[in-house]
Amino acid sequence: MKETATMAILRYGELVLKGKNRHRFEKTVYEQVKRALRPFPSIGYDREFGRIVLHLNGTPYEEALEPLRRIFGLASISPAVTVELESQHIQEAAAEMMQELEPSPATFKVTVRRVNKRFPHDSQEMNRIVGGAVLRAMPGLRVDVHQPEVELKVELREQGAWLYARTDEGAGGFPYGSNGRGMLMLSGGIDSPVAGYLAMRQGLRVEAVHFHSYPYTSEKSQQKVRDLAEKLTAFGGSVRLHMVPFTEVQTRIHAAYSDNLLITLLRRAMYRITEKLAEASGAGAIVTGDSLGQVASQTLSSLDAIGRAVQLPVLRPLVFMEKKEIIRIAENIDTFELSILPYEDCCTLFLPPSPSTNPNLNVIRSIEANMPWLDEAIADAAARTESIWIERGQVKEDRFASFF
Ligand code: ATP
Ligand code: MG
Repeated sequence: MKETATMAILRYGELVLKGKNRHRFEKTVYEQVKRALRPFPSIGYDREFGRIVLHLNGTPYEEALEPLRRIFGLASISPAVTVELESQHIQEAAAEMMQELEPSPATFKVTVRRVNKRFPHDSQEMNRIVGGAVLRAMPGLRVDVHQPEVELKVELREQGAWLYARTDEGAGGFPYGSNGRGMLMLSGGIDSPVAGYLAMRQGLRVEAVHFHSYPYTSEKSQQKVRDLAEKLTAFGGSVRLHMVPFTEVQTRIHAAYSDNLLITLLRRAMYRITEKLAEASGAGAIVTGDSLGQVASQTLSSLDAIGRAVQLPVLRPLVFMEKKEIIRIAENIDTFELSILPYEDCCTLFLPPSPSTNPNLNVIRSIEANMPWLDEAIADAAARTESIWIERGQVKEDRFASFF
């Protein structure tokens, strides 16, 4: 008979276990778990110290595992079985569980925890008894108490024994939203969705901000950004997406100045609008997909000149990553195929022939000082921003609502 998991043991990340925020962190993860497992109403939940126990009640473990693997703050997940609290049953289940492991390990150890003190053997004796049973069933296996490939855990409880050996890696990181809120500048490119994912993994609740230059940029490119934001909801449940009408600001800046600092000026305007949206949302940071040196606007001095347009910290999770690493993550989080769809981005319009790689902040400031209408145009674009909530798998409010 194949041993079928009746439970799953979910462990919080180690970081989460430290400090006074533990309680809040665990609660957030627990809520994310329940939300992710809504499609499986049979599952029951128990919260224990440092972990969550799921009673699968017929839900296949592998099906529950799939959404669980995307929950930040979960370090690992194990399928578990329950057997009668009786030595022979425990030995058989242990041998069976070890035989079913894939790949089959070369070394193991047994760790028994006796919660139920009425059980006749203490944990040391049970370690030997269960270990012996496994070795008889799998003569090639060796015990390694220091660095075993597999640790077979047995918990002797009031209502039966729990056994688990397989460990599936969780997403790690911090529980979603436990480290504050950030405004993700989400273009249609490869990088910014990856930056958003990394920010979310580190516990930032992310709101996405997209600049479009309709009608110069198409409806399709806006749809693409919605689809990208929806991909991110797989990791947090819901994402708010702000669509900023940038045409006006962009064309006015371009009409007043079209030389090699144009990109810097446009980016500064974007940052300032994003900062206004951040203030309204209570966000404490701006997150971008910049990667050092990738293009002219991402040299150290460009990043500096652009970043100085705002007071908020600008977080750039990809700053030291190579393109191929970024692409690998984009593939893993399933945004790559969308990102490479060839729709135009607002920033590719009216590009100067050779954007500056070393913009001078004093020059930029004096150009901006000659645009007395700029502040108002920026405030106006922020005020005309439309926002939607995207829930996992659906757009909650399909109509845009004005943000302010
Ligand atoms: P991406 O792949 O994220 O578009 P990129 O390498 O193409 O990045 P740029 O186009 O120079 O780089 O953009 C740098 C960053 O500026 C982006 O990662 C994103 O955070 C932000 N950004 C660029 N265009 C937009 C836009 N239309 N709306 C919102 N943010 C944008
Ligand atoms: Mg881009």
